[in-house]
Amino acid sequence: MSECIFCRIARGEIPSKKVYEDEHVFAFHDINPAAPVHVLVIPKVHVDSMAQLGEEHEAAMGRLMVAAGRIAREQGCTDGFRTIVNTGRVGLQEVYHLHLHILGGPNPLPPMLKH
Ligand code: AMP
Ligand code: ZN
Repeated sequence: MSECIFCRIARGEIPSKKVYEDEHVFAFHDINPAAPVHVLVIPKVHVDSMAQLGEEHEAAMGRLMVAAGRIAREQGCTDGFRTIVNTGRVGLQEVYHLHLHILGGPNPLPPMLKH
């Protein structure tokens, strides 16, 4: 059993505010929201980051992308939203279980990259 925090959230061992679950995908509210809507969507299978994806992950990641669009709409993002996957040191990834951020709110989000 993986001790990874997001694996443990997907197994229900660590509480989260779940918004969606199926056999491939788990989605929950980010604990430190950066926008009025901030949901994380993860594959249930552990993958460190997008850089480690292989063909064996196509079904899970296809499901994840389709679910993400539906989750965004269900969270009220009917006029657009942003998705982000931070990867590795350069991407400033903090949690090494691949996750897609869904960010949205009533107003346009700040510019994507601030320097
Ligand atoms: P990243 O920088 O892309 O790796 O993002 C990691 C995200 O996970 C951050 O936005 C955190 O706020 C979020 N996070 C970390 N721990 C938890 C948790 N236990 N429940 C929900 N979100 C979390
Ligand atoms: Zn994991």
